[in-house]
Amino acid sequence: MKGNHKVWCDNCGKLTPNMGAGLCADCFPSYREDYIKVRQYVKGTHEATMIETSHATGVSINRIRKMVRERAISIKNT
Ligand SMILES: [Zn+2]
Repeated sequence: MKGNHKVWCDNCGKLTPNMGAGLCADCFPSYREDYIKVRQYVKGTHEATMIETSHATGVSINRIRKMVRERAISIKNT
């Protein structure tokens, strides 16, 4: 179950209960905001690439990769 085991936060590296996506309570809200931006962009854009999505949303490629890895979004890996 989410939140019951501790993880090293994927963003700041602190040992923390997992708030989702392997992030702490401080980092998760901004990840969530970025996720919403990325998802909206990808939904409105056919065949968006990671680079285009990163430029359009201001979200880093690494963070977009993480979303793809967690199957939160589906996007071309270019
Ligand atoms: Zn963190």
